[in-house]
Amino acid sequence: MSKVTVIGAGIIGLYTTYLLTERGIEGKNIKIVAEFLPGDQSIKYASPYAGAYFSACIDEEHLPYSRYTYENLDKLKAKLGPTPGIGNVYSTEYLDEIPDDSYLAKIKDFVEDYELVEPPAYLKTAKVGVRYKAFVFNSPLLISNLLEYLKSIGVTVERKKINHINDAFKENDADLVFNCSGTGSMTLGGVEDPKSFPTRGQVVVIRAPHIKECVSLWDDASTYIIKRPDSINHEVILGGFYQAGNFDANTYGFETEDILRRTTQLFPKLLEDNETGNTIKDLQILRVVAGARPGREGGVRIEKEVTNTGTIVHNYGASGSGYLCGLGMSSKAVDLVIKS
Ligand SMILES: Cc1cc2nc3c(=O)[nH]c(=O)nc-3n(C[C@H](O)[C@H](O)[C@H](O)COP(=O)(O)OP(=O)(O)OC[C@H]3O[C@@H](n4cnc5c(N)ncnc54)[C@H](O)[C@@H]3O)c2cc1C
Repeated sequence: MSKVTVIGAGIIGLYTTYLLTERGIEGKNIKIVAEFLPGDQSIKYASPYAGAYFSACIDEEHLPYSRYTYENLDKLKAKLGPTPGIGNVYSTEYLDEIPDDSYLAKIKDFVEDYELVEPPAYLKTAKVGVRYKAFVFNSPLLISNLLEYLKSIGVTVERKKINHINDAFKENDADLVFNCSGTGSMTLGGVEDPKSFPTRGQVVVIRAPHIKECVSLWDDASTYIIKRPDSINHEVILGGFYQAGNFDANTYGFETEDILRRTTQLFPKLLEDNETGNTIKDLQILRVVAGARPGREGGVRIEKEVTNTGTIVHNYGASGSGYLCGLGMSSKAVDLVIKS
């Protein structure tokens, strides 16, 4: 029986550990080692900052990962108790180009209640809308729930920074290591991936009980409104930015203003039905945060590497899709060493 170390307690390390246990590795044989854990906040830890919403309209190469995630989330959700941090809402994605029919057919094939909608006339850059029943995530709650679930089935967890990937084998007397280090892959010894880079995003979290869905517009900017599930404050996430190469944890007032302007233009309901008034000034801002997505030139790295010390499976570079693609990514990573 393999003993496994998983580097990383972001959504990718946690999805990976969950699937290892589903594929027959006993929890007691798995150890998660991570510098940052659920509850922590750091620009080096993307997972707590994600909106996080499910997008069906992603590049075709990553579509199988989002499909797998969509089709397998209910099983995970059922294990996480009454407030899992995973919900279902309707999502409308407006696109500035009309995708070809074969791409749309692939989306229609796996999402529920798919329909194409006409964008409202005031959205000048939108050419088409794709609406469907989507998943949505309360990212801090989900990673915390997932870690607690894994601990309850015997997985051990240690807070520690690993300097060289080979050191991870010593952690659990392991012969198998999963590298789910996110932006840590830029500096982790033995990996130091030159293709990895951070992509900063800033989001504004508001209280908005009247918002029950997700709406986004993908044009030159990335503008999105995400209903956060299982949130006692009725949180809604407004974003955002994709700033490649930027690792700045600070937040900026001018970015907040830009986000509020874009999101209220995209979805006027934010103001129209707001319980405290109908102007941007009336929105109830709870906090403003910035995080860094683990970007990677050429996309995710899911790869097996056999070394003298043991087997390493890399699973990182999820960029802005860790929640929506991560279960599919992790399934492929686990498949490299354990057949389902
Ligand atoms: C503003 C924003 C909005 C987003 N919105 C969405 C969204 O709507 N939908 C979506 O799907 N995704 C979204 N994302 C992206 C999502 O957050 C990431 O894809 C995901 O969190 C990546 O997870 P990860 O586990 O790879 O990395 P991380 O969460 O960064 O975790 C990396 C882990 O590795 C550990 N680690 C790294 N190096 C070492 C080391 N040397 N030793 C020990 N431990 C180490 C870290 O401590 C951490 O535990 C968003 C991100 C941001 C910033």
